[in-house]
Amino acid sequence: DASGQRLHDQVVGADPVARRRAIAKTITLLESTRPDHRRRADALLNALLAQAGRSLRLGISGVPGVGKSTFIEALGLHLIGRGHRVAVLAVDPSSSVSGGSILGDKTRMERLSVDERAYIRPSPASGTLGGVAERTREALLVCEAAGHDIVIVETVGVGQSETAVAGMTDLFVLLQLPNAGDDLQAIKKGVMELADLVVINKADIDPDAATRARAQITSALRLVGLHGRADRAHHDTGLWHPRVLPMSALKGEGVADFWQAVEDFRRLQTANGRLAARRRAQDEAWMWERIEAGLKARFRQHPGVRDQLAPLVTQVRDGRVAASVAARRLLDLFAGP
Ligand code: GDP
Repeated sequence: DASGQRLHDQVVGADPVARRRAIAKTITLLESTRPDHRRRADALLNALLAQAGRSLRLGISGVPGVGKSTFIEALGLHLIGRGHRVAVLAVDPSSSVSGGSILGDKTRMERLSVDERAYIRPSPASGTLGGVAERTREALLVCEAAGHDIVIVETVGVGQSETAVAGMTDLFVLLQLPNAGDDLQAIKKGVMELADLVVINKADIDPDAATRARAQITSALRLVGLHGRADRAHHDTGLWHPRVLPMSALKGEGVADFWQAVEDFRRLQTANGRLAARRRAQDEAWMWERIEAGLKARFRQHPGVRDQLAPLVTQVRDGRVAASVAARRLLDLFAGP
């Protein structure tokens, strides 16, 4: 429709003020749960898709207090100083539970948020993690269509959200503190093997500890690489091997080295085809993830299923009907035998 067309033109247009407003409006439309909004949003999203895909997508995670916003502000300012346009999005798993936010957004990234070359958007506020992740993926495409060539997606390191963010970005960065034990947590949770880069932040507080942590995490990553991913055997120089970098986000030390590593990653993974392959796999996985979520929702709304679900659940719990038999009956009601 006409208003959708106008939004589209403003998002991809050259007027920075109109563009900024149009990005916000488009994302708001995408986050709406009204079916008529959803139809307009889908049309708009597809129209924008042609202009999207040209950014570098950077995922950043770490426990609260590790220095994510300090780091993103330092990195963002470094990048806009070099002519880039940066977007920062967030996936906050707590927002879907409490309506509150771990990634409190008021005073974060003060200097970056007022710069017109940056666009910062807090986490979508409601829904399951899958829903929040979907909204964020869509917002990412909008920011790309609007010409932001670096998109940073931030999440708190407290659960499944790291996997969701690693699944929508080209490169996943884990921020760690320079004390041992912290890294063990990440290894246990399987987060370490998602990381393409590990940053040891607050190295200024205790440089020796940071050096030790760097050595420990480097060897831990080597183990994860050898035992976890067969394609990361570390004699192969045509493949990326995760790196560990010290940093003081507060003092801005290590930011340029970090960006150098990101550019090395991009060059190597573009040359060996991994970057494009990762995006293709992500897009397909995203589609299936949303199909499964949509099927579940529609299944529960189906009138026949709604009638039979509660009695069958009771019978399964009482041991009168086998779980698999109940599941088949319900699926037959939903989709026919
Ligand atoms: P977040 O919760 O991960 O976003 O962490 P913040 O960026 O809000 O940082 C938490 C606290 O750590 C703040 O008081 C920062 O000033 C401080 N901080 C962040 N980076 C560094 C650093 O490199 N060195 C030191 N000494 N403090 C830092």
